[in-house]
Amino acid sequence: MVIFAFKTDTGEIRKNNEDAFGHYEDEFFLVADGLGGLPAGEVAAKLAVEVAIEVYKESKDLKRAFEVANHEIYRLSRENPAYFGMATTLVGVVIEGKYATLANVGDSRAYLINKSSINQITVDHGLGGGVVTRVLGINPEVKIDIFKNDLQSGDLLLLCSDGLTMMLTDEEIFRILKDSAKTKKAIEKKTKELIKAANATGGLDNITVGLIISPWQN
Ligand code: CA
Repeated sequence: MVIFAFKTDTGEIRKNNEDAFGHYEDEFFLVADGLGGLPAGEVAAKLAVEVAIEVYKESKDLKRAFEVANHEIYRLSRENPAYFGMATTLVGVVIEGKYATLANVGDSRAYLINKSSINQITVDHGLGGGVVTRVLGINPEVKIDIFKNDLQSGDLLLLCSDGLTMMLTDEEIFRILKDSAKTKKAIEKKTKELIKAANATGGLDNITVGLIISPWQN
């Protein structure tokens, strides 16, 4: 069984949380960071997660799940003036034994952490400081980055919104996660620690973190 724990927090400054996360069984995991102001950002992020899960469940096709999510957000933003211009980032991972397949649009991130290092797997589509250059929902078509990784025993995957990575360096994230025990309880505690650390340095944005441990044993 894949062990996982997710947590989101509004942060210290924002009034609303426009991040979203979700999962399909212990197989497919997602984090989204909505853009476009209220209520649109919240709607876009939730919709991305819901639609991607629905499509993945039927098709087991990660890329298609992202494509349909993009198109649904785009369609709704055209139909409803309150949602005009809404968009979201979306990062997701499918775990199959020792294999992780990841998809990304925007500047939410996936990291792979082991005892000795932290490595960002996804490539940001953004300029930093919350400025994103590629998102779901703005165009009818979107380019989706796909990454494939082999997992080693004890590897930890982190999915997160930029509310975490704006506030903490990779080194600071690594310091919190490197000694984590591989239990549900331990990683639940680590999600809280990450959020606490991001809030302690200002908590300027919504913060979402998801930690996943594959069942793979060498
Ligand atoms: Ca954000």
